[in-house]
Parts: sequence; C-alpha cells; structure tokens
Amino acid sequence: MKVLGSGSIVPTRQRFCSSIYLRGASQELLLDIGPGTIQKMVRYGLDPHSISGVLISHYHVDHVAELLPLIKMWAYDRDGRPARSQRGLVIIGPKGLRELVRSLIDGSRYFGYLDSTMNYKKYTSLVEVSGDEAIELGDVRVKAVGVRHYDGVAYRLTFPGRSLAYSGDTVVDEGMIKLAEGVDVLIHECSFPSGSSVGLHTDDEGLSLVVERVRPKLLVVTHLYPAWEGREVSLASKILERHRCRVVIASDGLTIRF
Ligand SMILES: [Zn+2]
Ligand SMILES: [Zn+2]
Repeated sequence: MKVLGSGSIVPTRQRFCSSIYLRGASQELLLDIGPGTIQKMVRYGLDPHSISGVLISHYHVDHVAELLPLIKMWAYDRDGRPARSQRGLVIIGPKGLRELVRSLIDGSRYFGYLDSTMNYKKYTSLVEVSGDEAIELGDVRVKAVGVRHYDGVAYRLTFPGRSLAYSGDTVVDEGMIKLAEGVDVLIHECSFPSGSSVGLHTDDEGLSLVVERVRPKLLVVTHLYPAWEGREVSLASKILERHRCRVVIASDGLTIRF
C-alpha cells in the first residue's frame, strides 16, 4: 500500500487530498482519486497506466477531482502519444457515478471533447455499487456499504489471504463497523481531534470505538485535517494505550506492507 493522499482539501507539507494505492498479486487499485493523485503516483515511482480499477468512496471534491484527468490520460500512452490502451478503465463508486461523469462530460461545451474526440465511453466502465452484491476485480472481492456521509460508501476488499477495509469519510458508522469486523487492515478517517469536529466525520474518540469493535491487526489513520499536524505521535499513543494493533498515522508518500 502506498499512501498518495492522507489529508483534506487544505494542504499541509505532509498531506493533501485522499488517495490510497494498493497492489495485490494481480490488481493495482486506487481508493479515491483526489487532486494531485496522478502526479504523486509518478513521483513515488508508480505507473498510473497500470491501474486496474478506481474505487470512489463519495463525490466530494477532495476524493474525486482527479477522475477527469485520469479519463483523459487513458487516451494517451506512456510517451504521450494519442494511443489508447486496450485495457479498460474501471471506475467503481456509489450511486450517482454515471450522473456525475455524464454531467461533467456529455454535452459539456468545455469537457465534451472527452466524448466527441476521445470517445471515453469506449474505454471507461462506470460501476455503481449498492451494497447488496460483491464485485470481483480479478482475484479481489469488493463489498461496499453505505455510510452516513453524503451518500458515501465504505469498502471491504478481500485479496487472496488478506482483507482490508476503507471507511472513506464517515461518522462512526454501524454498517461500516460490521463490514470491517475482523479485517487485517483498517484504513479509517480521523479528520479532527475530539472536541473540534466539523461535519460528518470521525474524531479520535470515535475512532477508538471503531477499533475496539473491528479489531484489525493494522490500523491506518487517514484524512487528517491540519489540526493534527505535529500531534500525530499523541494520536497514535492514545490508540495504542487502548488497543493491541499496529498503528500507522498516514502521511503522503508512506509505503505500508501487510
Ligand atoms: Zn467528504
Ligand atoms: Zn474528505
């Protein structure tokens, strides 16, 4: 796992908008695709053309704004020649994905060329998840559940021999906890320190409740607003005082093996 973006829309030296890169035996996946994702991949030695799928948690700008650049990039090869790859681009997200992409591109005076010139529909598959059924991406099984954050979803991914859950943005959510129970790796948001929470997010007290129920082997804490800068060690120790799991406070560029 490589953390591409572990912060919020407000940049700091260590963190910016959400994206996490996962590499399994046969799949390379992105969890969310916030602004800056593609260039960070290249800077961290990853190849954006190798992505097998993008899983979007919800349609806030800090999680989805690099989607159009990815769709446009897919129409070019690695040397910048207009030579579309034979491989399709698979985008997965909660209900509204088709409406979002179509409304941005189809018939748009400015972005319509992604359709009329580049024929993005020929290579882009949009898959909406409802939470009832599982999706197979090669050898990875994907399950989603709705969370209380602007029609967002959380995901559980089962790789051969390993499982991972990603909260996206959410308050402490019962559905998410049930989906994630017993996973090897829990990637959970912790936007603000307790007492200063804004919006539908989780603070450190809430995160502790989630960890107690999910009992992951490894907790990766992400989606940190600037209020957490310089307080990462105390956040980690607070969780470690109460739970027996490995804890990593995410920052952009961090590699985590599991
Ligand atoms: Zn959000
Ligand atoms: Zn967010």
